[in-house]
Parts: sequence; C-alpha cells; structure tokens
Amino acid sequence: MELETIIGLEIHAQLSTKSKMFCGCDNDAFGAEPNTRVCPVCMGFPGMLPVLNKEVLQKGIKGAIALGCEIQPFSKFDRKNYFYPDLPNGFQISQYDQPISKNGKVEIQVDKKIIKIGITRVHLENDAGKLIHEKDGTFCDYNRSGTPLVEIVTEPDIRSAQQAQILAKEIQKILRFVDSSDADMEKGMMRFDASISLRPKNEKKLYPRTEIKNLNSFASLFKALNYEQKKQKKLWEDNNPPKNDLTVGWLDNEEKTVLLRDKESAMDYRYFPEPDLPPIIFDAEHIEKIKNEIPELPLAKFHRYKKDLKLTEQEALKLSESLELSNFFEKTAEISTDPKKSANLILSIILAYSDWRHSKITPQHIADVLDLQKDGKISSTSTKQILVSAMENGKSAEDLMNELGLEQKSNEDDLIKWADEVLAENPKVVEDYKSGKEKVVQFLMGQVMKKSRGSANPPIVLKILKEKLKK
Ligand SMILES: [Zn+2]
Repeated sequence: MELETIIGLEIHAQLSTKSKMFCGCDNDAFGAEPNTRVCPVCMGFPGMLPVLNKEVLQKGIKGAIALGCEIQPFSKFDRKNYFYPDLPNGFQISQYDQPISKNGKVEIQVDKKIIKIGITRVHLENDAGKLIHEKDGTFCDYNRSGTPLVEIVTEPDIRSAQQAQILAKEIQKILRFVDSSDADMEKGMMRFDASISLRPKNEKKLYPRTEIKNLNSFASLFKALNYEQKKQKKLWEDNNPPKNDLTVGWLDNEEKTVLLRDKESAMDYRYFPEPDLPPIIFDAEHIEKIKNEIPELPLAKFHRYKKDLKLTEQEALKLSESLELSNFFEKTAEISTDPKKSANLILSIILAYSDWRHSKITPQHIADVLDLQKDGKISSTSTKQILVSAMENGKSAEDLMNELGLEQKSNEDDLIKWADEVLAENPKVVEDYKSGKEKVVQFLMGQVMKKSRGSANPPIVLKILKEKLKK
C-alpha cells in the first residue's frame, strides 16, 4: 500500500520586545541570574493585573502579515488553565477562538519546486518559566515567565520531514526580516511541536496523529519526524495503524520518541475569556500602515537575485538569508558597475571575515575595488588585501592601494626586462613551451610576478611572454 505522510507544525517564537508581555520586566533574560527579571505580575501574585505591551501587538501583527495572514478586526485573550510549577498563575494567557490573525500561507522551495503551506492562524500568548532539574532537586526560574510568544499553526500541508525543516527555516527567516523575533534556536527563542500521521495515498480522511512536543533545533525536528514516520509506516504495514492521538517527546541523545500522554483536548484546559484584558480591535487603516512597513521577503529576494541580477542559486540563497546582508548587497549592487562580481566579493571575502557586521566595510569599498580592478590598477590578490584592511580601518580603497603599495605597475620597460631575465633563467621551460606544452607559460608568468613583487599586471605580462616565446 502506498502511504502519504501528513505533517502540521506549531511554532512558538519569542517576540523581540524590550519588556515582557504584560509587565515592565526586561524581556532579554538570556544568561541572567535566575529570578532577577521578575515582578509580582509575571510571578502571578494575587491581585496583580496584566497590561498588554503595545510592542507585543505590533511585532506579533508584523509577523502574522509577513506570513500572509489576515489580521482579524476583533480578537481577544483567553485563559488556558493548567497546573505546572513553572506557571505561577495556574493559567496561560493565550488566544482560543478569536486569534489576532488567520488564513496565511508561506511558500517554500523544495528540490527546485515551489510549495505553498497554509498557515491556519497566528496568535499571541505568554511563555511559562523554566524548571531546572539538578541532582538535589528541581528549581524554578521565572525569568522567562511572561515573555511574549507568537504561536504559528500550519495546515497539515507538509508531506515530509524535509519539507517541515525547510518551512521552519523559512519562517525563522521571515520573522527575522520583519524584526518580530530573533528566533535564535540556541537561546530557545523558537521551538516546534510537530504532528504527524500517515494515510493511504488518495484518501482524504485524516488518521490519528502523534504530536512530538518541544523540538528545539532544526536537526531534531527533522530526525524526530523521520523516526515517527518510519514507526507509523511499520504499524500500517503490519495492518495495525495508530488508533488514537498520542503526545510524545523526543530524546535527542537516544534519537527516539517516548510517550508522554494521550493527547489532551481543548476541553481539558477549560478555556474562558481573560477577564482582566480588553479585546483587541483594529481598524483597516492601522493594518494597512503596518503592511506598508513589511520589507520584501527572503524568497522574493532570492528569485529576484537569480532572475534580474543573474546570481547562481547558491549565491542568491546566501545573500537573501538575512535583511542586513541583503541590504548590504543591494546597496553594493546599486552603486557598483557589476552586481554579479559584487556578490562574489561579498560571499568570498566579506563573509569569510568573522564579524563583518561590526567591521568598517561599506558598499562603497566594494564598488571602488571593482573599479580599480577594471582599470587594471590592482590584481585580485590585492583586491582581497584591500577589502580585509578596509574592514579593519575603514580607509578608502584608493588610499589603501597607495598605502599598501598594491598598484600594479604596467611600466612596459620593467616588464620586458623581467620577462627577458626569466626566459634566460629557465631555458628548459622555454623548450617545453616550444615543444607544445603551452601550460608552462603559467610558471613563467609566476616568475615575472615574483620579480615585480606582485605589482605587475598579469594580462600584460602574459602578452609580453607570449610574444617573446613566438620568436
Ligand atoms: Zn514582570
């Protein structure tokens, strides 16, 4: 029987706001001493009232619009009740039946094909604290308690672990492009729950699914889904397909899933409207204003770089990875005479430099070295030297060329003298050349370049050598 895989994702991403969702506590608690970014509101003290942080709303909506969602004119918060030691309120403030946005879509490119994945909804909710399990007990750190999150729920449109991973990466890029979330996996700013089920191909019905909770890297998302897919496939082949929904966890070290519980339903959480927060009402004008602030998104840039600027797939992908890098590249392409060569220099030299963002390099440097190269004033080796220096001290390309003595001397008299010397010193190589091994001219060129201490212009040296060797 041919089986089809059905996957849906729930993605939690931390919004990059200054303060937490409902209080003034610092939202950047990464690496801070436990329980130093807390107040009575986010610690759930009795009688404390939440006040919605405006920045949460703005960043949440930007993210939702960038994921193609429609912002709902009316939405509200609800309490999701459950007990856990890291949740001091005894409930999470989330959005149940009226989220801020619905009906989005994200396009991804998988094996050169564009696939559209539906986004069911994007809603806002606050995060819980963190439990730290140690040898002598379990400790609670509430620094993360009250951190704003967006929850992004996809339609079950994903058909493989590979697609799920590509989608997760694309959503990370999009959230970063619109400055909604830093989505740094290593800091736990983005986590996934993935649901998977199989069904006989061509059937429309959905079968019981397994939800894998709390995956915190792209690699574990991929591995866990592959693992569950194989497991379920075996069950189908043994004529014993899954009979009910399950919730499992992923053990990274052992590379397998473990059963956590039978899946809970919405009933279990006893959702009800949050009485301490008013509903959110948007007018069309406000939504339009935020829409206009959304920059061109990564996949659109990728296609444009390939089509209009003739970059390769790899180059376009890399340069559209972050807004900062694509802005730098686009500015360079705009002022330089050659976008394609600009891309090459950025990828091969600038990105190789560990911290280019904080270096002193500007698009002008790249445009200038390309001009110097075009005029035959510097070699490609000198280009690299100039750019690396410019990253450190920010001096202009021309100043650096002069300072470092990199200007190519094309003084024909010197070049002819050096060429004669090299030919006289290497009679055997000259003989080889004349007997047909024309490649050895490269060696002779290298010798002339050496005598010039790298200042000679290679094409001119080659021309002189070839002429002399003809005789
Ligand atoms: Zn607080």
